Amino acid sequence: MSDFEYGICPYDKSHRILLFRMPKHLIKCEKNYCGPPLQTCKYNATHRVQDMEKHLKECDYYLRSIENQAVQIALRSRIPPKQEDGHDVDTPF
Ligand SMILES: [Zn+2]
Ligand SMILES: [Zn+2]
Repeated sequence: MSDFEYGICPYDKSHRILLFRMPKHLIKCEKNYCGPPLQTCKYNATHRVQDMEKHLKECDYYLRSIENQAVQIALRSRIPPKQEDGHDVDTPF
């Protein structure tokens, strides 16, 4: 029974929806929804929350994306500057 993952519909906590059906479900459910307006998470369109700042602290997708950025920056800064090759003969002495 672990073939599919379920998520909880942000518009109605009693809706348990297969994750791959969630985008379609949200479109339908959004129309019937009449509670406080929810914001769509930039990192996963199926995340709908009232408090985005609070959500980002626990959003897997956001956390992964900043982790990836940190890795990218680390990789980039590991490339050594050219001067360290010892080819620079113009040292001012
Ligand atoms: Zn729903
Ligand atoms: Zn999110």
